[in-house]
Amino acid sequence: MAAELSLEGVGFSYEDAAPILEKIDLEIPAGQFVCLLGASGSGKSTLLRLLAGLQFPDQGRLLQNGKPITGPGFDRGVVFQDYALFPWMTVVDNIAIAIGKAQPGTRKADCRAQAVDYLGKVGLESAVGQYPFELSGGMRQRAAIARALALRSPVLLMDEPFGALDPTNRARLQDLLTEAWETEATKKTIVFVTHDIDEALYLGDRVVVLGSTPGRLIADLPVPFARHRDRRSLFDSSGFHALRESIAETLAADTLRQLVAA
Ligand code: ADP
Ligand code: MG
Repeated sequence: MAAELSLEGVGFSYEDAAPILEKIDLEIPAGQFVCLLGASGSGKSTLLRLLAGLQFPDQGRLLQNGKPITGPGFDRGVVFQDYALFPWMTVVDNIAIAIGKAQPGTRKADCRAQAVDYLGKVGLESAVGQYPFELSGGMRQRAAIARALALRSPVLLMDEPFGALDPTNRARLQDLLTEAWETEATKKTIVFVTHDIDEALYLGDRVVVLGSTPGRLIADLPVPFARHRDRRSLFDSSGFHALRESIAETLAADTLRQLVAA
């Protein structure tokens, strides 16, 4: 069976600049939670935009279920750090309208009911009728997650979605995301970009590390910790520390190579 997402020899550069990504081969099976880790500038967002179908590779190809990705689609939901909600619409309308687009023919009242349901899942029932500007950053990101879940796409692409949040809200949203994902009958395939090793190891089934100059995969590791994970005991465990240390060393070695090459 074809992997949910495949990258075959993917290369990419912006205009005449040096390559950003080179010869990336990656197979992501359906239902896997993959964290894509790498230093700033290593090409993580570029790789995610290629998967989203917002940009196209110079070399190689990207496939979903064996079919080339030719543009954005409802089969791949996206959540970016600054993923904008429409400011002139209430939170519930923002989500209901997205549901209406993803499920053409659904009655308005049904779209709204589904939107309210998903807002409840992310703890935003009280914010249903509010406008985005009335919400904190954490609440807006919850709404963006509710929208992404409501679209029921089999793939979720997330680019540092919690990067702008304070540690408490960040931890809350990590838990909310894993709980929503773990309890789904058919688990989504998630590609989650982060530069935070702890976040990657807490969330992921697998950590893929992107190196710099040009971006290529420098590590691909299974995350062996059983779910449902408990943050406190995971972060205290020796297995966690060992894996964290080895990934930190891989990233440091890459930074060093980059400095020597510069
Ligand atoms: P990351 O998300 O890992 O920080 P990016 O994918 O955003 O990395 O960027 C990788 C490299 O591509 C960086 O050197 C960045 O400056 C460059 N880059 C990103 N977007 C553009 C763009 N639109 N035009 C030209 N260069 C870009
Ligand atoms: Mg980025």
